[in-house]
Amino acid sequence: MAETKPLIFNVQKFSVHDGPGIRTTIFFKGCPLACPWCHNPESQRFCGERMARDDGGWDDVGAYYPLAEVIRQAVQDQIFYERSGGGVTLSGGEVLAQPMDYVTALVQALAEKGISVGIDTSGAAPFTAFEQVLPYTDFFLYDMKLFDDERHRQYMGQGNRQILENMKALSDAGAVLYLRLIMVDGVNTDRDRDIQPFQEWLQAQQIRVETIHLLPYHELGRHKYQALQRPFQPFRAPSAQVLEGIRQSFAGLGYDTVIGG
Ligand code: SF4
Repeated sequence: MAETKPLIFNVQKFSVHDGPGIRTTIFFKGCPLACPWCHNPESQRFCGERMARDDGGWDDVGAYYPLAEVIRQAVQDQIFYERSGGGVTLSGGEVLAQPMDYVTALVQALAEKGISVGIDTSGAAPFTAFEQVLPYTDFFLYDMKLFDDERHRQYMGQGNRQILENMKALSDAGAVLYLRLIMVDGVNTDRDRDIQPFQEWLQAQQIRVETIHLLPYHELGRHKYQALQRPFQPFRAPSAQVLEGIRQSFAGLGYDTVIGG
């Protein structure tokens, strides 16, 4: 469960992978999903925790930032946002599973200062949370892991119906969606089992997406599992040929599709 005050575990300046232009990405701590390949495992729990450092010390992960402080930090780089077409991205964890009074006040304040706001979401949140931020949000980076509900539950700890329903509702509401598909070999890359049913659903539901990003699994978060003293479960990225085949199959249906962020 979310705390009454949200925890933030990183404010990353000059980020270039979380939407267009130069951005500040604010990472909220706590996520309803438990993806076993999560490359930010320190983002999963809604509570503060400690990570071991290489020098034998410990770093605290997660702090409460008064709203004015996080706005101050975000506004510092406004000139770079304006020159590059960037802005602020709220990420996580799952930002829409945080106390929504705080999140809504934050996006509203940024929008009122003329700063573009993007939200990186797993979709695992009540639609009422999306509705609260929708008027102030320029785009959503919408992550999708697995189309099959039961296999989604098996890997992520809960099914995906809410995620799909929210995607549909956002599309119908005219939200700008960048769909991000995490590609994990043997888990969600089978054309007949994983890709085609999802494509059929996207088309049947008339989901409008700006771009589909195919994001191959990577192991950059491996050391963080050690630092958190949690077991690391290795997966594999699909081959370049498999990825390209998937890209072409989406592109063939008219979706602007790229490999990478
Ligand atoms: S949805 Fe994202 S942050 Fe949450 S567990 Fe999965 S990969 Fe990690």
